[in-house]
Amino acid sequence: MELSCINCHSRYSLNEPIYCCRKCKGLLEVVINDLFERLQRDKEWEKKSLSVWKYTPFLPDLSIEPVTLNEGGTLLIKSKRIAEELKLKNLYIKFEGQNPTGSFKDRGMTVGVSKAKELGYRMVICASTGNTSSSLAAYAARGNLNCVVLVPSKKIAMGKLAQAIVHGTKLVMIDGNFDLALRIVMELCSKYREIYLLNSINPFRLEGQKTAAFEISEQLKGNPDLVILPVGNAGNISSYWKGFKEFYQVGFIKNLPRMIGIQAEGASPITKAIKKGESSIERLYHPETIATAIRIGSPIHWKKALNSIYESKGYAESVTDQEIISAQRELASKEGLFVEPASAASFAGLKKLLDFGLIDRDERIVCVATGHGLKDPDIVLKDLEFERVVPDTKVIERVLGLGK
Ligand SMILES: *Cc1c(COP(=O)(O)O)cnc(C)c1O
Ligand SMILES: [Zn+2]
Repeated sequence: MELSCINCHSRYSLNEPIYCCRKCKGLLEVVINDLFERLQRDKEWEKKSLSVWKYTPFLPDLSIEPVTLNEGGTLLIKSKRIAEELKLKNLYIKFEGQNPTGSFKDRGMTVGVSKAKELGYRMVICASTGNTSSSLAAYAARGNLNCVVLVPSKKIAMGKLAQAIVHGTKLVMIDGNFDLALRIVMELCSKYREIYLLNSINPFRLEGQKTAAFEISEQLKGNPDLVILPVGNAGNISSYWKGFKEFYQVGFIKNLPRMIGIQAEGASPITKAIKKGESSIERLYHPETIATAIRIGSPIHWKKALNSIYESKGYAESVTDQEIISAQRELASKEGLFVEPASAASFAGLKKLLDFGLIDRDERIVCVATGHGLKDPDIVLKDLEFERVVPDTKVIERVLGLGK
């Protein structure tokens, strides 16, 4: 395995502590040159139960025990009530809220933090709108590493903040958005070589995240036709695509799914580019949406994401905050699944695409629910009104319309 620059294809060893190409500053990606040999060598993996570390032949080798909380192995839930209403035969939700800290970020963090430890670092850092810091904080604690997170002072979900704090992180708030926070941590890491950067620019995190595509393929006993994901920095959609391509390459799935990216209307540079058929994005300086996990104006992985969507003959769409909130309510009230607003975007997007007639109703559709709803309870509680009555059975009967 090697690191390869996504622009100029320069190669680097996995043990070089770099995040960007030295020649062109391009992002680096892990490439597996000997996947078939690796699979030949290790046949035990197929018998293991679903989890990130099941897929060792597809993951970077480690000379230490991984720092793990048993991430991955999340349920692929077949929709019943919603599928029936929408006349869809095969609608599934991959519920990534079941990961240890409540989001898919754990899949990447177990690999990234393990790599940090293997490389001998004592301190890790990230910039985050929430889930990345929750996850890094937990894995740093597990791996006995010092942890620093930079978060924007506004629009950060309370559940996520609480997680970062409880795990013993040094939390620094800045008056600025995510894009600015990221610029600062990148500067710090290039200046202080003893700090390891764990934002999604880190290529090892994406390797862990691709295992969700493997799990879905195993859970469906074949490939899905359509995978719908919320898109922020666009690392996840790129990871899924990489995962599906690797499973396809070795013949574990017969076809590749189409990748559908969903963005919030106020933060949708990728959707705009796809709709215009362009090969680059126009960055946004003031992204806005209640779905804080995808409130990103300048997605780091835009290039790979556009490629994933074009190459898979997929599509991108944007949804309004109102559509996100109704989708969140619908998943919770009809399927029993409480997902955070960003996660509901994939389902909101599905409904929109159905309205446009862009989806065949027999297809195997997977909506990825990226994070748990308990992360951000304020969204739900904001316009809630309770009925307050005296504690008397007769009164309660009247309120409930019973015994008339
Ligand atoms: C990080 C995150 C996303 C966005 O993923 P990207 O890889 O940045 O596109 C979506 N939903 C949740 C819950 C997240 O934590
Ligand atoms: Zn390069």
